[in-house]
Amino acid sequence: MKSQFSKYYRLLVIFACTVLIAFAGQAAIAQNNSPWRNQRRQPVEMIVGGDFVVTMNDAQPVIKNGAVALNDGKIVAVDTQDKIMASYRSAKRLSGEGKVLMPGLVNGHSHTAMVLFRGLADDLNLEDWLQNYIFPAEGQFVNENFIRVGETLACWEMISGGTTTFVDMYFKPDVAARVVDQCGLRAVIAPSSIDFPSPGFRGWDDAFAAAIDFVKRWKGRNPRIIPALAPHAPYTVSPEHLRQAIQAARQYDVPLTIHLAETQTEVQDIQQRYNATPVQHLENLGSLDPRVFAAHVVWPNESEIALMARRGVGVIHNPESNLKLASGFAPIPAMVQAGIQVGLGTDGAASNNDLDMWEAIRLTALIHKGTTLNPTTLPARTVLRMATLGGAEALGLADKIGAVKVGLQADLIQVDLTSAHLTPLYDVISHLVYAAKAEDVDTVIVDGKVLMSERKVLTVDTKQVRREAIKIGEQIQAEIRPSN
Ligand SMILES: [Zn+2]
Repeated sequence: MKSQFSKYYRLLVIFACTVLIAFAGQAAIAQNNSPWRNQRRQPVEMIVGGDFVVTMNDAQPVIKNGAVALNDGKIVAVDTQDKIMASYRSAKRLSGEGKVLMPGLVNGHSHTAMVLFRGLADDLNLEDWLQNYIFPAEGQFVNENFIRVGETLACWEMISGGTTTFVDMYFKPDVAARVVDQCGLRAVIAPSSIDFPSPGFRGWDDAFAAAIDFVKRWKGRNPRIIPALAPHAPYTVSPEHLRQAIQAARQYDVPLTIHLAETQTEVQDIQQRYNATPVQHLENLGSLDPRVFAAHVVWPNESEIALMARRGVGVIHNPESNLKLASGFAPIPAMVQAGIQVGLGTDGAASNNDLDMWEAIRLTALIHKGTTLNPTTLPARTVLRMATLGGAEALGLADKIGAVKVGLQADLIQVDLTSAHLTPLYDVISHLVYAAKAEDVDTVIVDGKVLMSERKVLTVDTKQVRREAIKIGEQIQAEIRPSN
């Protein structure tokens, strides 16, 4: 009886153990890979975190311990890390520890390949600088190789500093577009058209025909490359040609960008020639509408500010270039007050001398306090918005970029917060505007693709482009500044 009982007992224990082990195994599998758990957590391409997610979305401006789920190049969810991890899963996760996650910066005005003229001529008046250095150097050196090398160098610099979208108003747009395609950034590429001879062109007619040709070939071809038109300025393009440009922009449904009211000399010149101030001159030609965004606009009068607001014209503020060329202080606070969509830009590196948007951010936040003698002018939040969503609005791209928002393209940057100059932290937006530097940008993502990780640029052969840029620099030095 006893042995019988113990035999049954042993069998019972073995059976119980087997059931327990099987159950525990199932439970362990369920923890990691349960089909019903997987159904609950939607798979996505990437999850990116941030101790702070600065969204530029008024509904949820800053999310602490936040994360963003990305799929198919787009933002599919923005929330706290806990909620994102409960709803989404991904093999690719970028930690947000010690970092802020925010929209990539939008550089609304540049002539990017001019990085190869960086430091060629400084501390000169505009006329001397243009006539004796920049125009001769452009005439002699700007060819396809120059643009390829300059654009690649510029992409390296912009990616390193957290710019994800830029406007390029320069020459050889096909070469520029190919470089942008390779380096992974987003760009509005606007070949510059001018009434005088320019690299590769005799004057307006052939330059503008080539620009139209470029627009036709690139419109809708690559979602990251937006072709645009760029009549240079009211003082270098005749009224007839300006009319032609705006008509073409409407016909082909592309943006139009122009230098406008940059200097007092321009205002006097346009007044003398056409009996109108520069913005009014464009209005008289029927050229102002929401597809237009103007660079500089340093010297508009009050009625011109109201006019630009009414017409939906975007303005790109380039504080560093305006300071360096002593153009003046654009009335940005009045423009913001009037409801104009204002973005920020670096202008070309020959008048800056870099493509650093953080400098543009900080200068904007500082100089207008000085000119208005009012420390509450353009607070940090307003300026950070200009560098992201404001720029996207001015460019007509706010339905695609500029904010960390569901449905927008995943153009995001992570900024490292662990440096001495960012410690301690009371207000993340204050740090981004008044203390952060381009070197603090750690990760850059455009269209859901990582272009820079832990400060390593992944899409540019930096060693090779540096070699090529130095070589071109030596050739320019020998020709333009032989005395050095
Ligand atoms: Zn410019």
